[in-house]
Amino acid sequence: MWTIAGEGIHPSDEKGITSSLPIEGIRPPGKVVIPLSQHIGAPCEPLVKIGDMVKKYQKVGEAKGFVSAPVHSSVSGKVIAIGRFPHPSGNQSNSVVIESDGKDETIDNIKGRRDYLNSDPKELKNIILNAGIVGMGGATFPTHVKLSPPKEKKIDTVILNGAECEPYLTADDRLMAEMSREVVEGMKILMHVMGVREGHIGIEDDKPVATEAIRKAASGTNIRVVALQKKYPQGAEKQLIKSITGKEVPSGGLPMDVGIIVQNVGTAAAVYNAVHNGIPLVERIVTVTGKGVNRHGNFRVLIGTLLEHVLSECGGLAGGAGKIIFGGPMMGIAQYSLHVPVLKGTSGILVIPKGDVLLEDFRACIRCGRCVQACPIRLLPNMYSILAEVGQPKEAEKYYVLDCIECGCCTYVCPSRRPIVHHIRYIKAEMRKAKGKVA
Ligand code: SF4
Ligand code: SF4
Repeated sequence: MWTIAGEGIHPSDEKGITSSLPIEGIRPPGKVVIPLSQHIGAPCEPLVKIGDMVKKYQKVGEAKGFVSAPVHSSVSGKVIAIGRFPHPSGNQSNSVVIESDGKDETIDNIKGRRDYLNSDPKELKNIILNAGIVGMGGATFPTHVKLSPPKEKKIDTVILNGAECEPYLTADDRLMAEMSREVVEGMKILMHVMGVREGHIGIEDDKPVATEAIRKAASGTNIRVVALQKKYPQGAEKQLIKSITGKEVPSGGLPMDVGIIVQNVGTAAAVYNAVHNGIPLVERIVTVTGKGVNRHGNFRVLIGTLLEHVLSECGGLAGGAGKIIFGGPMMGIAQYSLHVPVLKGTSGILVIPKGDVLLEDFRACIRCGRCVQACPIRLLPNMYSILAEVGQPKEAEKYYVLDCIECGCCTYVCPSRRPIVHHIRYIKAEMRKAKGKVA
């Protein structure tokens, strides 16, 4: 069994709530809010104005710059506002608001490409760019950029990430179980674009149905399905590379430095949908879970659907929500409004009831070393926490704080309940400020 180098953690995963529930649709919303920034990189420029009628799949925001990705309308209807609206990141973001006409009229001339494995890789990359595809595991890095490494970086391996190690989340599990062909064909397209022959799909061993489905779909190809030991954060990019290939991405480096490109399984399915069917990224699978919501499941949700609509489709909140998180409990982001939209990177909506939210003051570090032992990158989280507390964030650079992937293992194990990840984020923000970048 392949596994990560550091100790990691084994939190109660609670995946059983939704892991056997098939993907289903929810009623489309009356309006969608499409943020012009749903990816790492420059926000899009709007292509529409208030009062315009748009069709489903129509591009409503154009990528601005190389590291960017366009956005499309997920409904047909009328543009009723363009401006700053609540964004799941915690800020407000420029967004296009579209009132649905309920007709679901799509743009004309949707053309897929059936002979994709004989197509020019450059053309395929262009299709992926124009479909607005980004990393759907949550990182939201534009996919066409990852597929365009500098010439001197020779890529020989593509890895698909199907680990889904975050507790509670099962969207990728169900996707692999029910859409294995799309995932594997998407992988073939990615390998063709990169001109590589070696492909691996890594899946944690708690997903036997998905693993079997992907194995079947990949049989007879040169794609290897790798069972990974269930452990958090098995699905972190650098950990996944080490587990599967034994290669270590250098400090401050990227997977391409060791000849590898990693994509999420949802991204691969979106690539297939864009290339084979000619459809841009306007919907995704979202796990809705936690004791604080009445109905759980893995739902196909249109991008731009507001959180309040998803929750109402799931029977509403179950007796007072204490916290609503986009993503999982380890790396997700707590939400402050029910009016934030589902984005391309929203893998889950976790609702924790009031009684389960632990509010406790943190205490002094007792130097027990548990955080050091748990850290998958083999860093010194206790040191960062203390340096942040005493107001010496710059000192942390010496101890490779920038290699921290903010997985939360250190915070999870700390008996003094120290907010170590918050401390690390504070340090990184201070370092960005010191280098003249916006914090
Ligand atoms: S959050 Fe950073 S320091 Fe803490 S365990 Fe994860 S990688 Fe290590
Ligand atoms: S786990 Fe907490 S108390 Fe123990 S060394 Fe790390 S920061 Fe200190």
